[in-house]
Amino acid sequence: MSLFQTVQTPALTYEQPLGLFINNEFIKGVDGKTFETINPHNEKPIVAVHEGAEEDVNIAVKAARSALNGEWKQVTPSERGRLLTRLADFLERDIETLAAIEALDNGKGVTMAKGDVTASAGCLRYYGGWADKIYGQTIDTDTNSLTYTRHEPVGVCGQIIPWNFPLLMFAWKIGPALATGNTIVMKTAEQTPLSGLYVAKLIKEAGFPPGVVNVISGFGRTAGAAIAAHMDIDKVAFTGSTLVGRQIMKSAADSNLKKVTLELGGKSPNIVLPDANLDEAIEWVNLGIFFNHGQCCCAGSRILVHEAVYEKFLQLFKKRAEQNKVGDPFNTETFQGPQVSQIQYDRIMSYIKDGKGAGAKVVTGGDRHGSEGYYIQPTIFADVTEDMTIVKEEIFGPVCTVQKVRSEEEAIRVANDTNYGLAAAVHTTNINTAIRVSNAIKAGTVWVNNYNTLHYQMPFGGFKESGVGRELGSYALENYTEVKTVRVHLSQS
Ligand code: ADP
Repeated sequence: MSLFQTVQTPALTYEQPLGLFINNEFIKGVDGKTFETINPHNEKPIVAVHEGAEEDVNIAVKAARSALNGEWKQVTPSERGRLLTRLADFLERDIETLAAIEALDNGKGVTMAKGDVTASAGCLRYYGGWADKIYGQTIDTDTNSLTYTRHEPVGVCGQIIPWNFPLLMFAWKIGPALATGNTIVMKTAEQTPLSGLYVAKLIKEAGFPPGVVNVISGFGRTAGAAIAAHMDIDKVAFTGSTLVGRQIMKSAADSNLKKVTLELGGKSPNIVLPDANLDEAIEWVNLGIFFNHGQCCCAGSRILVHEAVYEKFLQLFKKRAEQNKVGDPFNTETFQGPQVSQIQYDRIMSYIKDGKGAGAKVVTGGDRHGSEGYYIQPTIFADVTEDMTIVKEEIFGPVCTVQKVRSEEEAIRVANDTNYGLAAAVHTTNINTAIRVSNAIKAGTVWVNNYNTLHYQMPFGGFKESGVGRELGSYALENYTEVKTVRVHLSQS
């Protein structure tokens, strides 16, 4: 099988790399296996890509190690920054192609996909700016010594990303790792390998030395597990389910105690209080759950509404959700495309069935949309109770629950009644209430009168079982550096 293929999308035709990307070359896997990636809009294969497994991970780690100790070490911090900003420029240059790839492979609306490309370029440029600003401290302890710290790269970083934002997660991961001088073995999600391979081509074009970024298409059980357990990977960064996050932490502990950062699941509460501007709150609540078809780890899936506005809220929210344009990702008006895969579609539909069976009221949706592709209607359940499975478990689809609360205190208690702690929101026009409630909620991000407004300058990550460490902002740099203390004894003569 060849290493490149011309792919036709409804928007444009482009050349798709298919190989594993190791040492700046596209190559076949050791086993010679390939796997197909499916278009979720019509359930048909797009292309087959080469599959990486344990032996390929070993080869990629060797390439990354040798780059770390060789050519990449000689690249100055300013030049690292220049490479990152050049890569950002190339993402923007190829925005139409990258957006078409995401629409084709992931199913997200092409207009939303362009937003992902812009945000990815912004993230890379932001970290490019950090590359020559990685400083330690000088510490005065006593007159006979000089003590200072150096922030050195951790080393070879394994990075495992999910399918919900294939390109954006790629950028979030490589940005801080490269700015701080590390090298990378990246495993993309098996559902969405295409944009990562296209960016690999741009990485080479931007002038990164061979082996600095290596990209493996492959499965979690094989390639992913090999990264987590590898004895010569110094750090693993993972975004995905809490279940797999636990396994990665165990593998890291059982192998070489590599550093671990995890960005995991959520069941984030979105609180609407009686003094909220209801029209604005509805817009944010709608975006909070239905953006990216509900496939966001921080989706506002548990909506807690004060009894004083509960009925009015339901009426307005139903109307708003029914206006969401569901359909073909290549229609520029589309807000919600198909779910990413048959497996995800089946999981979500089984949660919907469970909610109906448990007696939750279907306000809108609750069924398949259309007859082809993995489309699900935007679904709102109301009159739910805290013990229902649909209220407790992450659904990762266009499905939310609306629960009535009687006071601010009850809203806070219910909001915190979860093992997750990724994000939350409160809608109120009272600044005191806003700050009081956000202080009381155990979550890594709390939005006040908005939702899902992530930005590469802001740290993002989870309390409790939603993760370990923070991505984005200057906080992410800490995950990718080791602090070395140097203490110099000063002679008196
Ligand atoms: P989802 O259930 O939404 O697909 P996962 O957490 O299973 O999310 O997948 C996220 C990423 O983790 C993907 O790249 C997947 O291949 C990878 N992965 C899955 N299982 C493992 C594993 N046991 N070890 C390492 N990576 C894994």
